[in-house]
Amino acid sequence: MTPEQFRTHGHAMIDWIADYLETVEQRRVQPDTVPGAVRALLPVDPPTEPEPFEAVFADFERIVLPSITHWQHPGFFAFFPANSSYPSILGELLAAGLGVNGMSWVTSPAATELETHLLDWMVGLLGLPERFRSDSPNGGGVIQATASEATLTSVLAARWRATDGAVNADGAAVGRLVAYATTQAHSSIEKGLRIAGIGSEHIRWIEHDERFAMRPDRLAEQIEADRAAGLVPFWVCATIGTTSSTAFDPVGEIGRIARANGLWMHVDGAMSGIATLAPEFRWMNDGMELADSYCTNPHKWMGVNFDCDLFWTADRRSLLGALSILPEYLRSEAAEAGAAVDHRDWGIPLGRRFRALKLWFVLRCTGIDAITEMLRGHVALAQELATWVEADPRFELVAPHPVSLVCLRLAGPDSATDRLIEAANASGRYLFTRTVLDGRSVLRFSIGARLTERRHVEAAWHHLVELADAIG
Ligand code: PLP
Repeated sequence: MTPEQFRTHGHAMIDWIADYLETVEQRRVQPDTVPGAVRALLPVDPPTEPEPFEAVFADFERIVLPSITHWQHPGFFAFFPANSSYPSILGELLAAGLGVNGMSWVTSPAATELETHLLDWMVGLLGLPERFRSDSPNGGGVIQATASEATLTSVLAARWRATDGAVNADGAAVGRLVAYATTQAHSSIEKGLRIAGIGSEHIRWIEHDERFAMRPDRLAEQIEADRAAGLVPFWVCATIGTTSSTAFDPVGEIGRIARANGLWMHVDGAMSGIATLAPEFRWMNDGMELADSYCTNPHKWMGVNFDCDLFWTADRRSLLGALSILPEYLRSEAAEAGAAVDHRDWGIPLGRRFRALKLWFVLRCTGIDAITEMLRGHVALAQELATWVEADPRFELVAPHPVSLVCLRLAGPDSATDRLIEAANASGRYLFTRTVLDGRSVLRFSIGARLTERRHVEAAWHHLVELADAIG
């Protein structure tokens, strides 16, 4: 592709994206594609000759687009959102254009310094403890690809601390480590603990209360029992805003138990943590001053397109102890003099994308006030939806709904709720996710797509009511 062709196709592509986003509502949220349908349209063999971009793009529209799930669709009420925005898309494009690998300060000083600076900004904007700032004695933040990676990173740092840095030398020490969470914690918690060699059998699933929040008394009891059995409690995950129901573990109480027993407390605020941009949601941060690490995802609810997870630690020494390895080819004067940080030591991969650009563009072009208004709007819609559910005797509210997720079900057997979800999703106008709470089927109505307005939530609710009538 010549520079001139790049300009032509690039301009056209930007137009295409703007048209797509402005009309996405007219599409089915989820395609009715059957498994294997996309591959069946692709040639068996790779191309042998370069093809014109027009031909490739035509195939994108013919083969790929019909089988896309439209996460930016205003009727996307599934999972948690992954909303994007125009400034973010431009930041992403620019990062690709620069083609930077920001693994070390020296491999692109601006990538490292902008990232560090933005993470410090975000400490203030989210109302987080100062001990997470890069200029605090032992803290700092970095962008990870996902909350899953942030969790694994935190487990590795905690493992290093709990084994006095002897993690690789003494496998027996690792074999005694035990971790704690509730069954409501995200599946990435168990995955991270498995990857880190702790193993599923050394995870203690702590009982939760009727609001799906961890019971600190049960945590304390379990830690004591594990100690008595010669095991070493080392890591606990407190979630603020669980995936199934947005339950809030009591971070302060868990933190005090963690402190008293030498555990690392990681707080997972992947979705709901972003709400603390609005001061009225800062209650979520209560007890955060006791956290050793924390993560939240602008790629869910802040208009920064996937991937962008913010991860902070208040124990940088353990993080770097666990993850720093310095071969000759990665040495730099700046890092060795302590004048610069090398972000490759702050996470799993060596190579790092320049993700800070898209976050910076969103913070500056969209602005905190507009983002906060969007969040508030989604929360208000969820609260209004909950009043409709409550007023309809055919439906039940299954969990508290303090943020933007409403968990509901049809009164009666699970099969009715399962049919409701299936029928609503089959309509193509909306997409919901099923979960199970207290052993019962639940429809998660998760509001957070940037384009979702009141009329979309209202229409989706009317649709559910109509389906409920039909299901009987
Ligand atoms: N933690 C929570 C509470 C989540 O809700 C999710 C995803 O929805 C995750 C972690 C995993 O997020 P990621 O895809 O960034 O790994």
